[in-house]
Amino acid sequence: MASSDVKFQGWLGLDPESVKGKMQWGEFEPKKWEEEDVDIEISHCGICGSDLHMLRSGWGQTPYPCVVGHEIVGKAVRVGKNVKHIKVGDRVGVGAQARSCLEADCPECSHGLENHCARENTNTYGSIYPNGLGKSYGGYATHNRTNGHFVIKIPDGIDSADAAPMMCGGVTMYSPLRRYGCGPGKTVGIVGVGGLGHFGVLFAKALGADKVVGISRKSEKREEVLKIGADEYIATDDDGDWHKKNKRTIDLIIGTVSSAKMPLTQYLGLLKVGGTFVQVGAPDGGELPPVNAFTLIGGSIKVAGSGIGAPWEIEEMLKLAAEKNIKPWVQPRPISDANQAVVDMEAGKARYRYVLEVKKEITEKL
Ligand code: NAP
Ligand code: ZN
Repeated sequence: MASSDVKFQGWLGLDPESVKGKMQWGEFEPKKWEEEDVDIEISHCGICGSDLHMLRSGWGQTPYPCVVGHEIVGKAVRVGKNVKHIKVGDRVGVGAQARSCLEADCPECSHGLENHCARENTNTYGSIYPNGLGKSYGGYATHNRTNGHFVIKIPDGIDSADAAPMMCGGVTMYSPLRRYGCGPGKTVGIVGVGGLGHFGVLFAKALGADKVVGISRKSEKREEVLKIGADEYIATDDDGDWHKKNKRTIDLIIGTVSSAKMPLTQYLGLLKVGGTFVQVGAPDGGELPPVNAFTLIGGSIKVAGSGIGAPWEIEEMLKLAAEKNIKPWVQPRPISDANQAVVDMEAGKARYRYVLEVKKEITEKL
């Protein structure tokens, strides 16, 4: 029920140059309404590294115009009659996924692995829906339309600005930490302490890891990363011999770096025998550095990957965040500053997540 006359407006990326701060404000046509959908009046949207890849067509040709942003929080303003868990007025969030097949015979959807559905996996932005339903548009916008299964109620006790980046950045770290056994008795490493990485530190601590090691390039971040909650910090550009000094000390590493030039073999050398390295950073073109077979064989090492998280994992993560009063480091920016915020994100200036604030009095003037 509720209004169907909403005008959807947002920051349109029109070509790869848009990542240089050249998105243009304008109207867009959301996917065709279905009774499984929810319309959200957006109040907050985090800026994720993925938004930059997508704006510049780094993962293949982006279907411009594209409105990025998949760390969305706002108010449900229209709820399809087949959506049972959300009502108009609820405070809700959407992460990086907008739809999957949800069929009973889908090997993934039927096992709580909607994020890996191979049939109808639709991203929150930049995806073409099946059956001519249109295109998906993200959260640098006034409104968002998403399948209700992927719309999550935000628990009281988490600020909207804090909840927004958890919808993608948070769950992308929470999910592999939990699935690969982060907990008491474990030493966990987080490579690349940016937006995702800082969530890695927060959630590894919240899940009870004995020791959390932040691993980034520069020593300038040391004090901050320890303040976020890491027990130790390694600066790979500045701490000489870091890979020798810390050899075979870590049980589980989650890697958020998306550069094909990352020192992967040296990261792997930090793992204890039998340890696991989970890659979540997603380089343009998908290339990782080559992995030496003897590194894997000698340490009996596992190399894995992980993509966002299923809706139930987002719910579980939000519950933990509310219980443990997890406070991400967010920097609010008005949605009118989205272009500059994207440029600043690209320059590595975020400490640690920019969150766009969407207010009517601002968007009316754009
Ligand atoms: P971010 O805030 O920019 O953080 C990335 C961090 O990587 C930076 O803070 C940087 O830390 C580090 N880094 C190390 N080497 C780098 C290099 N050569 N160039 C640039 N950065 C380097 O980005 P994010 O939002 O955390 O996203 C990280 C990656 O994860 C992106 O590729 C994004 O698309 C991907 N992602 C994947 C999933 C998934 O489901 N798998 C979900 C969301 C995002 P230092 O400068 O301190 O070294
Ligand atoms: Zn993301």
